[in-house]
Amino acid sequence: MIHQGRPSGWIELVCGPMFSGKTEELIRRLRLVQIAKQRVQIFKPSIDNRYEDDYIISHSEQRFLCKPVSDAKEILQHIADTTRVVGVDEAQFFGEDIIQIVAKLADRGLRVIIAGLDQDFRGEPFGPMPRLMAVAESVLKLKAVCMVCGGLATKTQRLTRDDATVVVGSGEAYEARCRACFDPDFSLARCAPPIPVSKQQAQRSHGTQSAFGTSESN
Ligand code: ADP
Ligand code: MG
Repeated sequence: MIHQGRPSGWIELVCGPMFSGKTEELIRRLRLVQIAKQRVQIFKPSIDNRYEDDYIISHSEQRFLCKPVSDAKEILQHIADTTRVVGVDEAQFFGEDIIQIVAKLADRGLRVIIAGLDQDFRGEPFGPMPRLMAVAESVLKLKAVCMVCGGLATKTQRLTRDDATVVVGSGEAYEARCRACFDPDFSLARCAPPIPVSKQQAQRSHGTQSAFGTSESN
């Protein structure tokens, strides 16, 4: 962001479904901050125990040192006086108080970069994310690749029939889907089982029936 006028902090938000590159984008921005020799601190909720505790790690194995915290208030206790930039990953798992906390940091002049899922496995706004989107100065909505049709995925499909909103997991438990292939109540699965992208590609390259029922030959 280019600033004119009075110096101030601000809030940047990066959101989207699982696998859309939120953590990669957060790490990219944080690396640039390091290159600019500004002090940065990164936090994640300790509920996200998928990977090693002291790192935020992307699905492509990029990593960045972070501090796991059990609630948002703890972030304030850990902020050093010299810190200029604060990163937060998996923000959807924090309570609503994260909104006040990041606003306080931005009011103090810090740059806050937040990444998190915008929607849960039902396609509903996830935890504090909608309000964070409202108060942020900048919002980036990333898309993944739909694992059924290869289109632009904006949804996170849970692959198990578990009703709890928070079931921490990765590739085995969730996949990215577009709006048309998203099937939160498994109603489409009963009509026609989805053909995974990899199988579709294999079928196409052999000139057989595609997922859309058209015949292609090479
Ligand atoms: P997020 O934090 O949004 O869950 P990550 O930054 O951890 O995403 O991982 C993004 C990476 O995941 C991509 O660069 C790619 O290597 C990988 N990936 C795996 N499945 C998909 C998919 N369906 N769509 C896009 N990227 C995927
Ligand atoms: Mg992530």
